[in-house]
Amino acid sequence: MTPATRPFRRIATEEAFMIPEQLEAIKDFVASGLDDPDIDMWKVLLSKEAEVRISQLLDSRGDRLKKMDEYGVDVFILSLTSPGVQMLAADRARPLAALANDRLAEMVRAHPTRYAGLATIAPQDPAWSTTEMERAIKSLGLNGFIINSHTDGGYLDEERFWPILEAAEALDAPIYIHPRAPSKAMAAPYRVYHLENALWGYQAETGLHAIRMISSGLFDRFPKLRIVLGHMGEGIPYWLWRIDYMHKQNPMRPQLKRLPSEYFKENFYVTTSGMNWNPTLEFCLSVLGADRIMFAIDYPYQRPAGAVSFMDSAPISEADRRKIYFENAERVFRL
Ligand code: MN
Repeated sequence: MTPATRPFRRIATEEAFMIPEQLEAIKDFVASGLDDPDIDMWKVLLSKEAEVRISQLLDSRGDRLKKMDEYGVDVFILSLTSPGVQMLAADRARPLAALANDRLAEMVRAHPTRYAGLATIAPQDPAWSTTEMERAIKSLGLNGFIINSHTDGGYLDEERFWPILEAAEALDAPIYIHPRAPSKAMAAPYRVYHLENALWGYQAETGLHAIRMISSGLFDRFPKLRIVLGHMGEGIPYWLWRIDYMHKQNPMRPQLKRLPSEYFKENFYVTTSGMNWNPTLEFCLSVLGADRIMFAIDYPYQRPAGAVSFMDSAPISEADRRKIYFENAERVFRL
């Protein structure tokens, strides 16, 4: 069905791309011999068997739009693939982030009805990042930001990163906190069975990041800050009741104006990326409500077919399906 005859648009909100210069930086990262948990996955992705994935990320054969047409996906909100530029020294991270944002803006300009984009920043340098954030929204017309969880073991609740949060709030643009492997301080037990990736480690790392932000009290400081999490909220919705309960038990934690779950329900959105499962969707609908959930595929790491057939056939109301497929994304990302 074409968009004109379908009762809804399909907007996919966590879709990855790569530029050749990032691929070179990743190859250098892998060759560096650093004992970094993200390198394990990239060794696999750089192998001969995974060539197709790299070509899909680079869109070197132009199949992204063909795939979108094939599965009736109207819009991809693109973001530079994890870990973005966050594995690099600031000197190399800054120009690469700016270049990736320029290329992303070019793609959006070439296909304005099909692509939107989240800008990459270099949290290694918060001051530079705030300037780039302003350029990304005001000059390049991008729709928000992506941060791939920790930066060299640092999390966004730390005061040195506050200028980034302040800029996002001032620009009224959301930050998508996307997974990467657990920071070195927490990675060792994950690496024994290669759990540092999407099986459990990504979710543990990114969920921790969000819980740190909530527990630090930063949403009292930045009450309009909007955060997006993939994978149906990185496990947090399931845990919210217990987080509230335990929060009240320990006076040593920072004092919050509200319950942790209230920040999660008001400052966060979740997407369905890589989580094509009705029980989780129904649970998130009952805990967060349909206004807080957005459709995502996680192309090319996950297949469009599975994500679209899941959302087309989910046992939910048509009103909720419309919100999840496009209405929320149009509002959150100003499409
Ligand atoms: Mn992803």
